[in-house]
Amino acid sequence: TTVPDSNPQSVIIMSRNEHEHEQEERNPTTRLRNPTTIYKTGVTNIMKPFGVALISHDENAKCYNQLFTSINALAVQEFNQPCLINHVMADGALGITSSQQTVFPHSRRMMCWFHMIQKCRLHRNLVTKEQWVSIDADIHAVQLSFSDDVFNRGIDLLIQKWSATPATKKFSDYFVDQWITKLPYWYEGAAFGKPSTNNGCESMNAIIKQKYTLRNKLHLSAFLPKMEQMLTDWSEASISSPFATATSISPDMELHAYKWSVSINRSDILHWFNTFYVVPSSTTTITPSVWLDLYRSGQWASFDDFVAWQTSCWLVSPLTSCTCPIGLKQYTCKHSVGLGIVFNLYQVTDKTRCEPLGKRKGKGRPKKVRTALLL
Ligand SMILES: [Zn+2]
Repeated sequence: TTVPDSNPQSVIIMSRNEHEHEQEERNPTTRLRNPTTIYKTGVTNIMKPFGVALISHDENAKCYNQLFTSINALAVQEFNQPCLINHVMADGALGITSSQQTVFPHSRRMMCWFHMIQKCRLHRNLVTKEQWVSIDADIHAVQLSFSDDVFNRGIDLLIQKWSATPATKKFSDYFVDQWITKLPYWYEGAAFGKPSTNNGCESMNAIIKQKYTLRNKLHLSAFLPKMEQMLTDWSEASISSPFATATSISPDMELHAYKWSVSINRSDILHWFNTFYVVPSSTTTITPSVWLDLYRSGQWASFDDFVAWQTSCWLVSPLTSCTCPIGLKQYTCKHSVGLGIVFNLYQVTDKTRCEPLGKRKGKGRPKKVRTALLL
């Protein structure tokens, strides 16, 4: 069953570890009466954010098994069906990986990109300073792979590149074991259009510590009312600032997009299929059709060729997605909005239209030089 928007309902379950001794304290399952947080994003796409807190003193697999099983039980209880978890995003904790394989075997175990690069940096002493600068840039470049195919080809070329130098072999071996064999899903295309870090979750955790638990370890009897207060606060706040179901387009983004839309040479926009178009980047040396041929064949001679290809053109769906770094990380960019403007799918405000095109308002980076000749 679905709950109508006009009568949303919040369900917050707090589970606790069976090793806890406060059996008499309180029923660990707390249900808030109102207000609620269930949102509909469309007829077929129903999003129901909810939180499950697991109170535990360790982070072993058993604890996560209980958490994931609780999520499933909650979905069955509230929505009459088990939840289809497509992605489990977390840091590299082994307990999470093994529980995900047990409880959600069909989901993809995402690795938080922020934690991943942090771990890599801890191994920088396996190479020289100069080598690390280049390796760090390589990892950042391949992280922007927008699909599994692109990543798989890119990572093969990257390992080839690193293996060619004996001095980087140690780091390369570590990298292959940790970030290709064990936890390979840290690139953008591993879950296209979804977050590549768990930063949002971590910052929520920081808020809990700053504003509610005040960094104290609370006894369960003090902790539960605190959590109830917190969840009431959040539920009430969600009325005035509702859960976002679409990325908003800021006036600044609109202006960038408008400028891009009037400067792009329309013959450089290549329609691929459905709503997908290939557009040249500001530094491209190849045409969109050459770019597309390379994409289809996957025939990059080296990792550096691969990176040059990756930054030459963007695959854009107007107002929906773009494979440029901003589009991948922020879900909206001048290309996707700009193509929307080009195809009259998006109306710019009069204020944006009146903005002098040659001049930039206020401070900011100088305008990038556009490669004049498209080969
Ligand atoms: Zn873009």
